[in-house]
Amino acid sequence: MTNSLFDALMGDHRGSDRDFLILPDGATLTYGDIDRMSARLANLLVAEGVAPGDRVAVQVEKSPEALALFLATIRAGAVFLPLNTAYTPAEIAYFIKDAEPAFVVCDPARAERRDDFMSAGAPLLTLATDGTGSLTERATNQSEQHDPVARADEDLAAILYTSGTTGRSKGAMLSHHNLASNADTLAEAWHFTEDDVLLHALPIFHTHGLFVASNVVMRTGGRMIWLPKFDADTVIRLLPQATAMMGVPTFYTRLLDHPDFTRDLVANIRLFTSGSAPLLAETHRAFEDRIGHRILERYGMTETNMNTSNPYDGERRAGTVGFPLPGVDLRITAEDGTEVAQGEIGQIEVRGDNVFMGYWRMPEKTAEELGTDGWFKTGDLGMVDPDGYVVIVGRGKDLIISGGFNIYPKEVELLIDEMPGVLESAVIGVPHPDFGEGVVAVVARGRETEPDPDAIVAGLSDRLAKFKQPKRVIVLDELPRNAMGKVQKAALRADYADLFT
Ligand code: ATP
Ligand code: MG
Repeated sequence: MTNSLFDALMGDHRGSDRDFLILPDGATLTYGDIDRMSARLANLLVAEGVAPGDRVAVQVEKSPEALALFLATIRAGAVFLPLNTAYTPAEIAYFIKDAEPAFVVCDPARAERRDDFMSAGAPLLTLATDGTGSLTERATNQSEQHDPVARADEDLAAILYTSGTTGRSKGAMLSHHNLASNADTLAEAWHFTEDDVLLHALPIFHTHGLFVASNVVMRTGGRMIWLPKFDADTVIRLLPQATAMMGVPTFYTRLLDHPDFTRDLVANIRLFTSGSAPLLAETHRAFEDRIGHRILERYGMTETNMNTSNPYDGERRAGTVGFPLPGVDLRITAEDGTEVAQGEIGQIEVRGDNVFMGYWRMPEKTAEELGTDGWFKTGDLGMVDPDGYVVIVGRGKDLIISGGFNIYPKEVELLIDEMPGVLESAVIGVPHPDFGEGVVAVVARGRETEPDPDAIVAGLSDRLAKFKQPKRVIVLDELPRNAMGKVQKAALRADYADLFT
């Protein structure tokens, strides 16, 4: 029997005594250990009535057992549905109602509030970050033998909810082949082998930590330093043992902020990658100056896994997300759907084996964004530079239209970011009685000098057309971000909705 994704990830490693996970205290788990753990969990799922195609909803802290639970769900033929650990019981209630899981696992601390989020009768078991809880207790008596349930390429493997940056999260349906093919593509593009040791500090409820990082390592048989979360001191302590790290931009800014982050720590590292949010060109340069590595930035999303990547060999260009990955077609379209001329800005559309099967129980949204020709409208705006590098200029929903003119926030942000006292900025549009939307710059203060709103406005006056200039500059200690380091522009728009009215 074959199970497309499970075979791709674990087929070669079953029963292997090669090390797989290295924990912060130095303890290790082999591939065989995780395989056996996942077999017991898969047998438990089956015993609890989970059938192929059923959803297994999981909101737990990161642990080896949580990764084994992902593998258990796949090998049982069910659909893995991870949920952000930051979601409140009220938010979880929405996802549970939407996804109708047959089985739910949550942190023991949350189980006390089960009535707040569990409406119907699915079993609810618990798993804590130290691996204890009713899930693992119940699994101990299960057999370590489990034949993976047959699953084909096009069968559903996971439903991953999008981050909810632009609105309510949507459940992206990902097939076995979506995930396995992207793992192959990335492993090859980034030269992963069984000799790699990936420092893994990302959460595993999101595509970056679960599919990009973990799947690529399992596919190639390497090891992971498995950290429950990003903590700069721990990362600095363990980096010398790693050959690669994948991170969100805030990982890199926090490392740069740390006095102990020095070149000698990274002697064994061959690759740092960044994604999930834009990496400032300044961070890219500062990182290279400090430790001599050019971070490889790539671009992807829940619905598509990874679409583009800067080259492994060749120039990694700051401020770009590189080239379409092998097997991914990319085009830039105008509002009427036609392709724009080279170098012009438009919506990024992608097509390929990586592109998801549709939004869970949202046929209209699926029809709107995925269409029938396989091209997915990403909602991101971008362009292709003369050398073929893709540049993201922002999200369609963040585009500002003031007095009938389009303003791409990134163009304004890049100029403001260079000004004295500015750490970073977010340029947003909020309702304005005369212009429809008024441009507002929200600025995070740097460490040394205090940003001066008047000087910022004055500094832009001869560099930007009048309609692009912010009508107001607001200074904050920091920009609001979610767990993946994404700036929450929707929250900022809500905060300043009444500024001009
Ligand atoms: P939602 O779709 O619910 O509004 P979201 O789009 O933030 O949330 P994700 O799928 O987690 O949810 O994020 C994908 C988005 O992240 C991309 O569409 C893009 O806007 C952004 N992104 C990812 N990588 C990069 C990058 N390297 N540079 C700029 N933006 C990036
Ligand atoms: Mg999105």
